[in-house]
Amino acid sequence: MNWITNYVRPRINSIFSRREVPENLWHKCDECGTMLFHRELSDNQNVCTNCDHHMHITPRDRFTALFDGGVFNEVAVPEPIADPLKFKDQKKYPDRMKAAQKKTDEKEAMLVAAGEIGRTPIVAAAQDFSFMGGSMGMYVGNAIIAAAEEAVKLGRPLVLFSAAGGARMQEGILSLMQMPRTTVAVQMLKEAGLPYIVVLTHPTTGGVTASYAMLGDVHISEPNALICFAGPRVIEQTIREKLPEGFQRAEYLLDHGMLDRVISRTEMRDELIKIIRMMMQLPPQIVGDLPAPEEGEEAANAPVDAAASEEAAQ
Ligand SMILES: [Zn+2]
Repeated sequence: MNWITNYVRPRINSIFSRREVPENLWHKCDECGTMLFHRELSDNQNVCTNCDHHMHITPRDRFTALFDGGVFNEVAVPEPIADPLKFKDQKKYPDRMKAAQKKTDEKEAMLVAAGEIGRTPIVAAAQDFSFMGGSMGMYVGNAIIAAAEEAVKLGRPLVLFSAAGGARMQEGILSLMQMPRTTVAVQMLKEAGLPYIVVLTHPTTGGVTASYAMLGDVHISEPNALICFAGPRVIEQTIREKLPEGFQRAEYLLDHGMLDRVISRTEMRDELIKIIRMMMQLPPQIVGDLPAPEEGEEAANAPVDAAASEEAAQ
């Protein structure tokens, strides 16, 4: 009896009375140290309500906040060859991929979607910095090409949110080949007369800055984002000189003509609607938080072209 009361019963009790430990409900701002309630923070798109510091946001959360009613259709991206170089450092590349997939719950470092913002049809692509540093490999290259092709097919502008530590070293030269590939994809949009808008987010660096992230018709950035090819530490060590304050940050680049706008994430949607409607020669925006579009409603908003009006007349 003793064995049962002293050992078995407490074990059974501990199994059944074990309460679910609540998830951490508070998030500390990296910049000002304020404790922020997680729901309040996600309602504000991961922007600190105290100091306006822009924290990381996943592409999925960004799209949910961006598109009308949080509704968007994911655009399929062709799957590249996995691990072409059989790369291994401390870990094998496929193991790193699996770990990143588990951590982010996403397949790869870029998400492509089609939908409407303020009843304005667009195609959007967003890079995920939490997936292996948002590194540009063959999948990201394929994603940008898929996004550009979808935009051309639907006659819509492409909005791209960049965030990357550069090219994916595990894919070697194949990742560097994505620079010319994505440049050609951007050229496809230009030839189709469609706007390509880049929203640079913290951080956008390396081969990404040197290709599709700097080829937009309009360059917007989130506040205080680091945008560079080589990082400030590397430059400082090379030239052995102290760099000016805010060097390679969004505001500095705006002052030096590299960007067109620096806009807070919470105002980004309205600004994008305004810019896109202007560039697509659509009537002024419909303001407010709109519900998801009904089936077949899209056509009423599309720019009038001769073929469509002829069809309607028949
Ligand atoms: Zn803060």
